[in-house]
Amino acid sequence: AALLARVDELVRRVPDYPKAGVLFRDITPLLADGPAFAGVVDAIAADAPDGVDLVAGMEARGFLLAAPVATALGAGVLPVRKAGKLPGPTAVEHYELEYGHASVEIHPFTVPEGARVLVIDDVLATGGTAAATVALLRRCGADVVGLSFLVELLGLDGRAKLGDLPVDALVQVP
Ligand code: IMP
Repeated sequence: AALLARVDELVRRVPDYPKAGVLFRDITPLLADGPAFAGVVDAIAADAPDGVDLVAGMEARGFLLAAPVATALGAGVLPVRKAGKLPGPTAVEHYELEYGHASVEIHPFTVPEGARVLVIDDVLATGGTAAATVALLRRCGADVVGLSFLVELLGLDGRAKLGDLPVDALVQVP
């Protein structure tokens, strides 16, 4: 409970970023606080499903959480990248945003058939990025065993896009 209060304090609310009307949650103050960051990593690792082989982190803030959680679990880390960053061969999943579209890419040869994968990002908003990541990983033969976020924005109902997968969020905000 003390950790959750600390997380709530250290996640900065930035009005009208990146555009008018959006209340952006900025986790950089939390990352900069050693004990709070370690606490968050420990909490995510403690809540993880059993037998995770790979921790997938979404570019870019998801990388910062996925790597220490992976080492805590004795698992590998899998960077889920935005378009055009990996040398290939890549597997790609395109998805729709509110305005326009985006894609996520991985190196499929780093995903053993049946690997148990935990997906991590800083914020669950509309769930579009997370849902595309799950679809991509499954297409590459992964067994997605759960998703974990620091902050879940409840108003956008991102969880609804993730079917019946276990979804963990340290902090839930309206
Ligand atoms: P989605 O809408 O759930 O697909 O979120 C898209 C991406 O934007 C995810 O990688 C989130 O980390 C990021 N994102 C959305 N809203 C916020 C925010 O308020 N703070 C930080 N990242 C955000």
